[in-house]
Amino acid sequence: MSTPESLARLREFVQAMAALLQRHPDEPDMLEEGAALLGRLVAHDDWLPAAYARPHPDRYQQYLLHADALGRFSVVSFVWGPGQSTPIHDHTVWGLIGMLRGAETAQHYAQNAEGRWAPAGAATRLLPGQVEAVSPRIGDVHRVSNALANQTSISIHVYGANIGAVERSVYLEDGTRKPFVSGYSNTELPNLWDLSAQRNAALRAAADRPAP
Ligand code: FE
Repeated sequence: MSTPESLARLREFVQAMAALLQRHPDEPDMLEEGAALLGRLVAHDDWLPAAYARPHPDRYQQYLLHADALGRFSVVSFVWGPGQSTPIHDHTVWGLIGMLRGAETAQHYAQNAEGRWAPAGAATRLLPGQVEAVSPRIGDVHRVSNALANQTSISIHVYGANIGAVERSVYLEDGTRKPFVSGYSNTELPNLWDLSAQRNAALRAAADRPAP
């Protein structure tokens, strides 16, 4: 169950990401610090509102949780129904993936001499609290699946753009490329910015305090 207090975790993450990007770090530093921030966010599974944690029987869901006003980053909850997976795809911008609930399998792909896409290295299994990164610099093409056959899994993704506005590509193993722009499954966003409950509690506490 999420409450306005538990949304504070997401609000504080969004504020810390904006402050980090404001400093214009190099990508390696940004990914390292951003991964630490995202790791802290996904260390607790008590804040994601149920509306952004709902699986769909046919396809994985991408709920936008926050989009930076300057387009510097976006935060998306990926909700995987049992057995669901993405096609092989790229991002064209940096991305951080933090596991919140369940488990997912990520397999990187590389193009071989004949132009076909083949798995590169072993698949990795991401468990709650763990974070991984993608980018054109460090490897941008992968395929991600729910590692659990009988359970919903949820990961929190952060991208270096409004990812729902980025033209990127899906790849078939024979090397065929299909351009696509991923959409969002929600039309309304969680309200991170209602601070009135905590402000009113502070007012009440001050009123109860004996005058000095
Ligand atoms: Fe991806």
